Amino acid sequence: MNRTHNIKDKLPEYGQSIFAQMTFFANAHNAINLAQGFPEEDGPPELLQFLGEAAQKGFNQYAPMTGLPGLNKAIADKWQKEYGIQLDPKENIQISPGATQAIFTALQALVHPGDEVIVFTPAYDSFIPGIKLAGGKAVVVPTYKPDFEPDWEKFEAAISPKTKAVLVNTPHNPSGRCFSEEDWKTLIRLTSEQNIILISDEVYEPLVFDGKSHLSLLHFPEVFHRSLAIFSFGKAFNITGWKIGYLAGAPQLLDVFRKVHQFQIFSVHTPSQFALAKFMQKGGNSLDFKDDYEQKRNYFSKAIAEIGFKPLSCAGSYFLLADYSALSEKGDIEFCEWLTKDIGVSAVPTSVLYHPHFDQKLIRFCFAKKQETLGKAIEKLWKISE
Ligand code: GLN
Repeated sequence: MNRTHNIKDKLPEYGQSIFAQMTFFANAHNAINLAQGFPEEDGPPELLQFLGEAAQKGFNQYAPMTGLPGLNKAIADKWQKEYGIQLDPKENIQISPGATQAIFTALQALVHPGDEVIVFTPAYDSFIPGIKLAGGKAVVVPTYKPDFEPDWEKFEAAISPKTKAVLVNTPHNPSGRCFSEEDWKTLIRLTSEQNIILISDEVYEPLVFDGKSHLSLLHFPEVFHRSLAIFSFGKAFNITGWKIGYLAGAPQLLDVFRKVHQFQIFSVHTPSQFALAKFMQKGGNSLDFKDDYEQKRNYFSKAIAEIGFKPLSCAGSYFLLADYSALSEKGDIEFCEWLTKDIGVSAVPTSVLYHPHFDQKLIRFCFAKKQETLGKAIEKLWKISE
C-alpha cells in the first residue's frame, strides 16, 4: 500500500536551499566555504559569557511573547542613539527567532490568498516561497549587474489593485547595493496611493561601508504606519547560530504579526535575549565589526581582480559579487561546482536567486572570514589562471 498517497508537497518546485546545498558540497570536497553567508569569527567573548550566565542565573523559562523587556529597551536605545529614531520598546519592537522567521511570519500574517507581493530579484531564497505559502503571488521586478539599480518604471508597472505589500532588502544580498534616499522616496511615492505595506529586510544594517550610514525604512516617518523592518543579531554580533533577530514597525502591523507569532513561535529563547540585552546595555555595539569587514572587502576584491575576476562594488553586507566571464565559458552553477571540486573554494551561483533563473556569469563570495582563510582561498583561486 502506498502510505504517502495523502502527501501533497506545497513547494514541489523547490529542493534544498542553495546555501545549504553549497555548504554540503563544500564540506564533501573539503573546499573553503565562501558560499553560505556566516562569519568565521565568533561573537564577542563578553556576549558569549553572558549567555552562560543567563542559564546559570535561572533565565530559563518562557520570555514574554513580545520579547524580554530589557532587550526591547536596549534595541530602542540603539535606534535613538545611532539614528535618532524613536521606537517604543513594546509597541514598535518584536523579538523573533531570526530574520528568516520574522519575514516568513510577516508574510503569513499579512498576505491573503490572491494578494500580490512585489519583490526585486535577485532575492533572498526564502522570500518567494514565503509569499507562496501564504497563498499570495510574488510579482518579480528584476535588477541586473553591474549596479542592480531598481527599474522604477518596471516597478510601477508591476503594481496592480491586488498589490498588498512590497518586500525589499537593503543592504542587498547578494549585490551589496544599498537603497539611496532617492530610492526610498520613489518607493514611497509609488506605493502611497494604495497604501501598500512596506516590508524591509535590513539584516545587514550594521555593515554599510565607505563612511556611510544605513538608511532604513524607519527613517521615513510619513510611511511608518505601513512599515515593518527586520533585523538580525546573528549578522550584527557574529552569532548566526543563535537564530535571533527583531522587527520594528507600526503597531497595527505588529499586532497582526503577533497573532501569528504567538501560535507559531510563542516566545523566543530566553537566555539569548538576556545575554543580548546585557551586552547592549553595557555598550556592546555591532559597529565594532564594520571596519574589519570593510578591510576584508577591500582585500578580497583587489585580490580576485588580480586573478581575472571582475569584482562588482559592495556598499554593504558581507558579500562580494564577482563576474567570472573573462575566466570561463561555464554557466554559473557549473562554474561553482567546478570551483568547489577542482579549485577548492565554494561560492554561490546568483542565477538561482532570479525567478526564473537568470545567468549573468556572477558568483557570490562571503568575505566574513578570518584573514588567514581569505588568504588561503585567494591562493587556491590563483589556480584558475594556471
Ligand atoms: N543568509 C545567509 C546567506 O545568504 C545564509 C542563511 C541560510 O543558509 N539560509 O548565505
